[in-house]
Amino acid sequence: MFNFVNILFAMTLPHWYANNFISELSGRYIHLDHVLPLLNSFSGNCKIEYIAMSEKGKPIPMAVFGSGSKKVLAWSQMHGNESTTTKALMDFLNFLDQGDFLRGPIQQFLSTHTLYAIPILNPDGAELYTRENANGIDLNRDAQKLSQMESKALRKIFDKVNPELCLNLHDQRSIYGLPSGEPAVVSFLSPAAGPDRALTPARKIAMKYIAEMYKHLQPYLPKKIGRYDDTFNENCVGDTFTSLGVPTILFEAGHQRQDYQREATREYIFYALAALFNLVGVDTIAKSHEEYFEIPENLKNYRDILVRNIRLDKGKSLVSLAIQYEEVLENGDIVLKPKVDSIGELADLFGHREIDGGGATILVNSQEKVRIGETISEITDKEGVSIVNFK
Ligand SMILES: [Zn+2]
Repeated sequence: MFNFVNILFAMTLPHWYANNFISELSGRYIHLDHVLPLLNSFSGNCKIEYIAMSEKGKPIPMAVFGSGSKKVLAWSQMHGNESTTTKALMDFLNFLDQGDFLRGPIQQFLSTHTLYAIPILNPDGAELYTRENANGIDLNRDAQKLSQMESKALRKIFDKVNPELCLNLHDQRSIYGLPSGEPAVVSFLSPAAGPDRALTPARKIAMKYIAEMYKHLQPYLPKKIGRYDDTFNENCVGDTFTSLGVPTILFEAGHQRQDYQREATREYIFYALAALFNLVGVDTIAKSHEEYFEIPENLKNYRDILVRNIRLDKGKSLVSLAIQYEEVLENGDIVLKPKVDSIGELADLFGHREIDGGGATILVNSQEKVRIGETISEITDKEGVSIVNFK
């Protein structure tokens, strides 16, 4: 008999995700008005606290799940325009809040761990869709000065919770790729604890966790996962917390192809979070922190669009033109404005979209002169035939 129990046994995490991700949260523009009602809709298993007010007086909410002795502190949207990990973190909290799928492992997790999750640390920046907070300060360069309310709030909760693991959740720009020529869809870092970048015990723990997530994500993202350069910067929160002996994992949600809403990346970050806590239905155990070094380092070798095989002047040599989108908040929507990034041979660059200009001599916005940084509405050949049109 094909009964309900069989269906549950047959269910995998991707099945669960496809039916249960929080579809009300979508796109790039995510702020408190989107997240607060969802936090308040979680069951009594979850406590909601307000850790502080932002510089503009908005509350900074934190969800607390579980009652175990292993304390984990996670925060997302420290950079207001980096919302992908917020969507994934909310999906993960929703996963912890349900009692049907992987019930046993989740109960086990909640009895051994307490997860303190701050979905939007920078609510003013989230509303403005800026990296910085309302005062134009990058909170991830404020870990020593603690000049802003949001920085103080995070440090205060860090000192109070005394976590054994921290998760620092971000988005990375679409310029990141890997030596393989694939885009870096997800990147990680175990930040340095000091200028000598020594492998301290805290770093090794973070590295091993990253290696486990990397292994679990491999089938989804072969050759599409990178790691960041570990140059020490004491003004960055992850570096500071690592220097204080607390393993801290930097997550960077990246980009591939035309996933500009980053809904696919969101799903991979959700899987990473589930794998980190062994909540994926299968074990992926890294043997040692050394497996971290198998992850290739990120390069800045991607642009949104590459127009190849074109000429700026008739008879001159063939070049490529790279286009990078600028994300602008307009009337409550994020608009992608294509801008000229660079012109040249660009042999080392890849495009999330590549267009063959067929050797044409081009006009940009009907002009022969092309300026770096200008917004493009159309590229045509000299006869007026469109090569790419953004109008
Ligand atoms: Zn960031």
